[in-house]
Amino acid sequence: MNSVTIARRPTRQVRVGHLIVGSDAPVMVQSMTNTDTVDALATAQQVHELAQAGSEVVRITVNSPEAAARVAEIRQRLDDMGCNVPLVGDFHFNGDRLLKDYPDCARALAKYRINPGNVGKGAKGDDKFAFMIRTAAELDKAVRIGVNWGSLDQALLARMLDANNHRPDPLPLEVVMREALIVSALESADKAIELGLPANNIILSCKVSNVQDLITVYRDLGSRCDYPLHLGLTEAGMGSKGIVASSAALAVLLQEGIGDTIRISLTPQPGETRTKEVVVAQELLQTMGLRSFTPLVTACPGCGRTTSTFFQELADSIQHFLREQMPVWRLQYPGVEDMKVAVMGCVVNGPGESKLADIGISLPGTGEVPVAPVYVDGQKDVTLKGDNIAEAFKAIVENYVRTRYGEGGVKRRETAARTIPIRPVG
Ligand code: SF4
Repeated sequence: MNSVTIARRPTRQVRVGHLIVGSDAPVMVQSMTNTDTVDALATAQQVHELAQAGSEVVRITVNSPEAAARVAEIRQRLDDMGCNVPLVGDFHFNGDRLLKDYPDCARALAKYRINPGNVGKGAKGDDKFAFMIRTAAELDKAVRIGVNWGSLDQALLARMLDANNHRPDPLPLEVVMREALIVSALESADKAIELGLPANNIILSCKVSNVQDLITVYRDLGSRCDYPLHLGLTEAGMGSKGIVASSAALAVLLQEGIGDTIRISLTPQPGETRTKEVVVAQELLQTMGLRSFTPLVTACPGCGRTTSTFFQELADSIQHFLREQMPVWRLQYPGVEDMKVAVMGCVVNGPGESKLADIGISLPGTGEVPVAPVYVDGQKDVTLKGDNIAEAFKAIVENYVRTRYGEGGVKRRETAARTIPIRPVG
């Protein structure tokens, strides 16, 4: 099964650059750079890398006059590279001044992220918020009102805690804090509309770092407004912890139809590519059957029946190979993103799982005859053996992609070619 239909929460639709967010538009993958925006070349390169990996919108930090001064150049560099990914400016504390002093920055961005918790206090804060909103309205830009647990509007929280203390039955602190996040987002959206920003330019987010809090907050927020929602577990952490925590929280919400854009806020391991967060976001949506981005490899975990690491290496190398091909394949071979590939470790589940995939290989386990049958569209097609199994299997996969998804290719499994002309190895 390639996709499922989940009733999405009905929302307004918001245009972000050339893309539409919300309601029945596909759940969009976002990411954020970690380069110094002042370094326009490095930032443009990283945005391009993230976009190539599949990020549909990329946010960049705009934190200083020097950074704001380079935003238009970053946009131009991306355009010159043929990369039209919409850019979002992440503003905190001084966004009003930067948008005022650098109008080309204001124009180059497709969306402004505004954090009501740190835009400023009192009348001064109101003026700063108003300037940013009016600029967005004038230039017809989308705005994400992005509330964050770590920078919650303290005046609002104090007011709500005070009111809670005067209740005959005060609510627990965490309940008031969750409510404060939601009120901050909704009241800021109301203010933005009063200031002239169309409701159809507004996206909301209320990020927290705890899985259960995030689910509770978004369920509540989603039931109280019709703005598209950006989902993300803030400060998710590194490695498997960050991936598991983000996936656990976002999967529950997505399954309930809540969430229109997602970001996986992973802390990269030292030396790790920033694109990991994009890959995880795509794999989350794809494994849930919500979208398809890249052919995914089904691989068994391995066990005592296959003591060599060969099948793990093959599974890994095939998955990398498929992902690397996608920028080109996406254009040349429509539908290839739905292809299923299996790399299995022995005869126990190997043939069965390989037959269920579009193309699969069952490697020999310990003590088995050293041959690897390849199954194409459910039929045994060829048997590989010798030292060159990995390269031969890649060639078979490439050939299959051309045959099935290329121009004039047979798109449907039921009628797809049953054999692929490939010379067996050995
Ligand atoms: S397919 Fe074979 S090697 Fe893989 S987990 Fe199952 S029994 Fe073990």
